[in-house]
Amino acid sequence: MRNIAVIGTGYVGLVSGTCFSDIGNRVVCCDIDSMKIDMLKKGVVPIYEPGLEEVVQRNIKAGRLSFSTDIPVAIQEADIIYIAVGTPMTITGGADLRYVTSVAKTIGENMNGYKVIVNKSTVPVGTGRMVERLIREHLGDPSLEFDVVSNPEFLREGSALADCMNMERAVIGATSDRAAQIIAELHQPFNTEIMITDLESAEMIKYAANCFLATKISYINAIANICEQVGADVTEVAKGIGMDSRIGSRFLQAGIGYGGSCFPKDTHALVHLAESVGYDFKLLKSVIAANDAQKLVVVDKLMQVLGDLKGRTIAVLGLAFKPNTNDMRDAPSLQIVPALLRKEAQLRCYDPIAISEAKVHFGERVTYTSDVEECLLNADAALILTEWDQVKKLDLGKVKKLMAAPIIVDGRNCFPLRQVREAGFIYHSIGRPEVN
Ligand code: NAD
Repeated sequence: MRNIAVIGTGYVGLVSGTCFSDIGNRVVCCDIDSMKIDMLKKGVVPIYEPGLEEVVQRNIKAGRLSFSTDIPVAIQEADIIYIAVGTPMTITGGADLRYVTSVAKTIGENMNGYKVIVNKSTVPVGTGRMVERLIREHLGDPSLEFDVVSNPEFLREGSALADCMNMERAVIGATSDRAAQIIAELHQPFNTEIMITDLESAEMIKYAANCFLATKISYINAIANICEQVGADVTEVAKGIGMDSRIGSRFLQAGIGYGGSCFPKDTHALVHLAESVGYDFKLLKSVIAANDAQKLVVVDKLMQVLGDLKGRTIAVLGLAFKPNTNDMRDAPSLQIVPALLRKEAQLRCYDPIAISEAKVHFGERVTYTSDVEECLLNADAALILTEWDQVKKLDLGKVKKLMAAPIIVDGRNCFPLRQVREAGFIYHSIGRPEVN
């Protein structure tokens, strides 16, 4: 049993803190956001993450999980301190490390014995060394010992709890064997593959992994765009190439590009990191440019079917960047909705859980509903942006009766072509032949 302080109780801090408590450790999750901490103290989880609230409540009851805004006390009582604060993108594309540096200083000021400081936030290579330096500079007693470890997080929003409890691997980048062993032991109950490496390599693994996945997505989207011109079907192509175990079938779903809180900022941050050491990462720059362009292909497709969009009612199905999350950070809808508004379309937007987050961005310029059928009623066209189950399971016969015209532009390839053809739709999707 370890005493763990997790500093930063967002998606990553809350999920990993909860999982560490569930395997028997005493964990205090801290944040500077007192509203968030107050909610969590009552067992209310401020984010949408399937199954999380139940596990949070169970561990609060068991006395293993608590929440606090008193970060100094949490640091003093812990033997392992996780840093899980945000590292958003700066205007120049790099990672904003101000939250990490602020936490590092606080840790230094409150050190009272040997502790392992673990960085879980996604940070540029060199940050672990910087954290080490900052802690040392702020130590009250310079003889105090500590180690800094990088243990990047690979969970996915929407399945974060399951990803954490069944993690495929734990990457531990350490500056000492002592710290590496402590963090490796902490991960034993997860029954996962443990990779111990140096600090710099661990930090690089996180960016390299996310940017590789982003590259895979932009690659299949580029193939999709060519498929449309040559009469091929990208879903067949993806299936065929994915059968090669060297390629693998995952992350080959063509669509409107990646979004979310990680891939956009992490691709930019790696380009930025490469630039700082004199390497022009042209490949990754193309991945980013391809993704930016891909978001808007559905706007062109809508105009191809409807012509002028002015005054036309479009049912926008899905706003979150992917299903099972209410996270709107860098969601493709943030580009697509304003583009449609500029064309003076009337937008009725459906999302089962992300409406309050979407309102922050779109305000009263669109109307909202969490009822998918209400969204479709008398619409001139439907535009699918998120592959929610509620969308994929729609009865197309019923949808046709609800809509003013049977037109679907599908940015997520939710329906088999035969199904939409039989239901009598005009259907334009990504990288597949048009159904007219
Ligand atoms: P988040 O924005 O949801 O949470 C960050 C939290 O840190 C916020 O609650 C904020 O109030 C808190 N915070 C900021 N400064 C603080 C301080 N000085 N002291 C205490 N708390 C402070 O972010 P997130 O999505 O959990 O991401 C955290 C890190 O993990 C990022 O580096 C991100 O790139 C990485 N990551 C995220 C995911 C994901 O799916 N969200 C997956 C893997 C890695």
